Amino acid sequence: MKIILLGPPGAGKGTQAKSISEKYCIPHISTGDIFRKNISEKTSLGVKAKEYMDKGLLVPDELTIDLVKDRLSKEDCKNGFLLDGFPRTVKQAEALDLFLKSNDEVIDTALLIEVPRELILERMTGRRVCQLCGASYHVKFNPPKNEGICDKCQSNLVQRKDDNEKTVKDRLDVYDNQTQPLIEYYKSRNVLSTVDGTLAIDKVFEDISSILGER
Ligand code: ADP
Ligand code: AMP
Repeated sequence: MKIILLGPPGAGKGTQAKSISEKYCIPHISTGDIFRKNISEKTSLGVKAKEYMDKGLLVPDELTIDLVKDRLSKEDCKNGFLLDGFPRTVKQAEALDLFLKSNDEVIDTALLIEVPRELILERMTGRRVCQLCGASYHVKFNPPKNEGICDKCQSNLVQRKDDNEKTVKDRLDVYDNQTQPLIEYYKSRNVLSTVDGTLAIDKVFEDISSILGER
């Protein structure tokens, strides 16, 4: 099962990805998480990526595509994978298709989580993420059992530096200009499915499960 999650920042991709990955036993690959890990470890990739991420801009394709190809070549991706936050440009989507084609493979489903722009700001400014496992919470819509502490691994929750009002607006513009064209890209390949991301988290997951099937 090779799945891509599409949707604007704050749509709920990371939230749903954790449940999909558990249910279907496929690795959750988030390019944002990979970059953030590199930033916290101060690698040269992390130093370069930070410059763009802090401004809400996309990290250049040259730095992103090879990183994903390397990750998809790992043993745990043999039976499929769930990509969250990649591809974000048509160039990335083409590179992914070419990479899969070399192994006679294709993307099975591109799942679009739709949420209107006016709901996104509140979601993102209230988002808190686990420093260790990356789990995503919301102070109002999905609070942890104990304030500031991850339910899953008991680590501290933090607010992402790019989850401030100004950067969120810039990221939404970047999404409209650079990532939205991917909806048509996957529609024309007959692999696009859409879910209503404004519903409750459990309901969105139910809808996703009925698209992916009970495997
Ligand atoms: P993305 O990975 O698409 O950027 P997240 O999964 O991190 O988005 O979700 C963004 C924020 O919205 C988080 O604070 C999350 O808890 C919250 N959230 C996710 N799904 C829903 C939902 N269906 N309803 C309300 N809030 C949600
Ligand atoms: P995310 O965690 O998906 O919200 O991503 C956070 C930030 O990481 C984005 O705003 C980009 O700066 C960067 N990023 C993540 N994935 C990609 C990608 N596929 N291409 C370019 N930049 C990315």
